Amino acid sequence: MLIPTTRETPAEAEVVSHQLLLRAGFIRKLTSGLYTYLPLGLAAMQKVAEIVRQEMNRSGAQELLMPMVQPADLWEESGRWKKYGPELLRFRDRHEREYCLGPTHEEVITDIARRELHSYKQLPMNLYQVQTKFRDEIRPRFGLMRGREFVMKDGYSFDATDEGASASYRIMHEAYSRIFKRCGLEFRPVEADSGSIGGSFSHEFMVLAETGEDTLVICRSCDYAANVEKAKVLLADSQASDQELQPCVKVETPGMKKVDRVAEFLGVQAKDVIKTMIYLADDEPVAVLVRGDREVQSVKLKNMLNATDVELAEDDEIWRRTKLPTGYIGPVDIPIKLVADQEVMQMVNAVAGACEKGNHLTGVNPGRDFTPLMTGDLRQITPEDSCPVCGGSLELTEGIEVGHIFKLGTKYSKALNATFQDKEGHQQPLVMGCYGIGVSRVVAAAIEQNHDKNGIVFPLPLAPFQVLVLNLGVKNEETTRAAEKLYQNLQDAGLEVLLDDRDERPGSKFKDADLLGIPYRVTVGKTWEKEGLVELRLRQTGDTSTIEYDKAAEKISTMVHAELKALRDAVS
Ligand code: ATP
Ligand code: MG
Repeated sequence: MLIPTTRETPAEAEVVSHQLLLRAGFIRKLTSGLYTYLPLGLAAMQKVAEIVRQEMNRSGAQELLMPMVQPADLWEESGRWKKYGPELLRFRDRHEREYCLGPTHEEVITDIARRELHSYKQLPMNLYQVQTKFRDEIRPRFGLMRGREFVMKDGYSFDATDEGASASYRIMHEAYSRIFKRCGLEFRPVEADSGSIGGSFSHEFMVLAETGEDTLVICRSCDYAANVEKAKVLLADSQASDQELQPCVKVETPGMKKVDRVAEFLGVQAKDVIKTMIYLADDEPVAVLVRGDREVQSVKLKNMLNATDVELAEDDEIWRRTKLPTGYIGPVDIPIKLVADQEVMQMVNAVAGACEKGNHLTGVNPGRDFTPLMTGDLRQITPEDSCPVCGGSLELTEGIEVGHIFKLGTKYSKALNATFQDKEGHQQPLVMGCYGIGVSRVVAAAIEQNHDKNGIVFPLPLAPFQVLVLNLGVKNEETTRAAEKLYQNLQDAGLEVLLDDRDERPGSKFKDADLLGIPYRVTVGKTWEKEGLVELRLRQTGDTSTIEYDKAAEKISTMVHAELKALRDAVS
């Protein structure tokens, strides 16, 4: 079997799942963001896919398979050919017709729906596929976590009414919870940003792991959980200030570009300074104000501006486009679009940049000295804020997004004219939902959550094999025969078993066993030769026991089946 394990940690791999997937011989890189799944990597991914399929089918969804190559015309119809940006890999065929590699399949599935779904009698309908996606990610990294080519389960529901669509959404929410429970992962569904649609119709399923790219906020008192991109910041009541409004005065602050430096120099606190950040929103410069001790939450900004893309502008870009001096920018008389976090509007006699190199202003007062185009919740929530639902205290934690469910409404059905006839005989647009799971990312996330210094510690349902039989007496014919017989008996008992019959030193075989993370390890060696005993070791706990050779297959199969049954029962 091709399991090319290595001892060294590959330098290119920053996160532990990437390191271990390479070291354990699960994947190999072809080029940036593109990986080959070697036999064990593929086996682990198929484990995830199988659980996903079972639970999707159980919820009434049907599997199909759409093409990976998609014609540009369809994307023109939805308006995304222009809007999607450089993540969409576009190309031409020999007839100069334009295509893309599917990063997602709303267009194609809606095309199926408009051709095949004609009557309310066919609804609801939920269709899904497990398929390779391509997204030309700006920063492919972390191995399977953020690839350019990756495997996704994407599903789409079609309903006659909005209530129907909400019901389909709830069914998927439950199916996803069952899926990740059955994978043996610790996870949380969190409220997610739903962009222009709004409302609580988007949830992300997050595997809790320190290395997660997403930050979640979880309430300690109620069951509120949200992505920080979406978590609503409650505005503290503004204490009616008895401070008299001071005049706006320019002061010299040479070389003081950072909030803390300016605050210290002027003898105020960071929270008394207005921080002005310049973003490019769909390439238009926008000044964004937050209190000096706060951070801008760019997704909130994107939604407020109704932009497709917002990014922080680089210093030289700011200068080239606006002639504003970075470090000294402020809201008073600023010549570009200005928006502010709600909290800024409560500030009195604040400090802000003067839009002049080496100068700040004191006595800056919102309303009097500047008026933003829009104000609202634009900042990142912190653990010091209170729960927007119950007022309880909050905790921030890291997570990896493995699934995303989304109520789409009629966005695509209207754009592509996908209608059905309702009971009264009227044509109505189909009401849609879409539901994704990063099948390949789940493998990486499982490892991020479950590993130790020696290697992967697979949850049983995702392990490429359930049991590893180590033959430590490869030179001894009898021992070898015993190991092979055990291997056979375990398979006959319905288990997935890997036999290590390599002529290697025991130390090296044990090391590889730990690295691969197969949950049950049975060793046939000296103790078998002397006393007819084999050693069973559990990868997760390190618990070791000796069992009689003749009883080993039955005992191990009982343990494995019991563990899997417990996980299945937990969701039934
Ligand atoms: P992200 O915010 O991580 O870029 P996304 O919002 O673009 O994710 P969706 O379009 O909702 O992701 O895709 C559905 C699922 O596909 C995600 O929840 C994630 O698990 C997975 N996924 C998305 N992008 C990648 C990628 N580049 N590599 C691996 N898996 C991915
Ligand atoms: Mg993405």
